[in-house]
Amino acid sequence: MRIKNSNKVILTILVLITFLGQSRAQKVIHHYDFNLNERVGLTPKDIILQFQEMGMDPVNHILTKTEQEIVEQAFDLLPPLHQKLLKEHLYSISFLDNMPNTALTSPVDESDEKMFTITFRSEILHQTISEWATWKEKSLYESSSGYSLFVEAGELNAIVYVLLHEATHVLDAALGISPKLTESDTLIEHSGFTHNIWTSINMPREEFRTTLLETTRFRGGGPIPINLAPEVYKNLLQTPFVSLYGMASWFEDLAELVTIYHLSKKLNQPYQISIMKGGVEVFRFDPIKNKEVRKRFKKLDIFYSG
Ligand SMILES: [Zn+2]
Repeated sequence: MRIKNSNKVILTILVLITFLGQSRAQKVIHHYDFNLNERVGLTPKDIILQFQEMGMDPVNHILTKTEQEIVEQAFDLLPPLHQKLLKEHLYSISFLDNMPNTALTSPVDESDEKMFTITFRSEILHQTISEWATWKEKSLYESSSGYSLFVEAGELNAIVYVLLHEATHVLDAALGISPKLTESDTLIEHSGFTHNIWTSINMPREEFRTTLLETTRFRGGGPIPINLAPEVYKNLLQTPFVSLYGMASWFEDLAELVTIYHLSKKLNQPYQISIMKGGVEVFRFDPIKNKEVRKRFKKLDIFYSG
C-alpha cells in the first residue's frame, strides 16, 4: 500500500491505536524506581522502519519543558495499579512527529521479560481529549452536509486518554488479563473480561455483531454515511462495549473499558457522543449509562486495589 503523508490519508489509516505483539514468558522482574525523565527516549529504529515501509516519514520529537509537564501530569492521573506496574514493565516512552496512528505499544525485543515501549504521536500533546476523540470518531463516517458529530470528553489533554489506553495494554500483557492466544479458536480459556462477550480475539459474540456494526471501520469495514450514526450507537447500546473501537479486539475492549471508566468515574470527565442534524442534536450516546457496560464495572476493581 502506498501512503502519502497528509492529514486526509492519516484518517484513512486503519488502526488508530494499535497493540502490537505478545509478550514472552515471564522470568525475573527487576524493580525500577520510576523516573519519567529517564524513560523518555528516542523511538526504537525498527518502529520507525515499520512506518517508513508504509510510506511515512516520522521524526523523533524531543519534548519541550511544557510538554514534559503535560506527560508527567498524565502519569499522575493513572489508576494506582497502572502506576505500580508501569514501574516494572514500561521500558521507555517516545514521541514522533508525523506518526500515522495515535500510539503504539510494543514489547522490547531484546528482553525476555514483560517489558514494553510506547510510542506516541507528539501532536496529541496539543489536543484536548474532546478534540482528539472527535477526530477519531469522525474517521468512521463519510461527511454529509447538515450532519455533524462531536465527542464531549472534557478538556484534559489527549495524552491522558491515550496513555491510559496504552498502559492498560501493558498491564493486560503483564498480568495476563486477556486470554492466552492459542492456535485454535476453539481452545480459548476465557477470562472474566471475555467470557460471554468474545468468541475469539477479534470476534465479538454473534448477538453483538449486528449487520450495521459489522460495517464500521473498527470491525474491518470502511467509512459509512454519517446519517447512519444514530442507528450505529443505538446498536452499540445493545452490547457490552463502551466504544466502537472496543469492538476491534478483546485487547481494545479492555483498554477502552478501563479508560472510559476511569475518566468518567474517577476523574469526573464526560464521555458522550453527540450527533447533530441541522444544528439540532438528534442522538446522544452515553456509554456509561448502558446497563450492559455497567455490569462490567465491578470487574475493574482489580485496578484500584492498591
Ligand atoms: Zn489499543
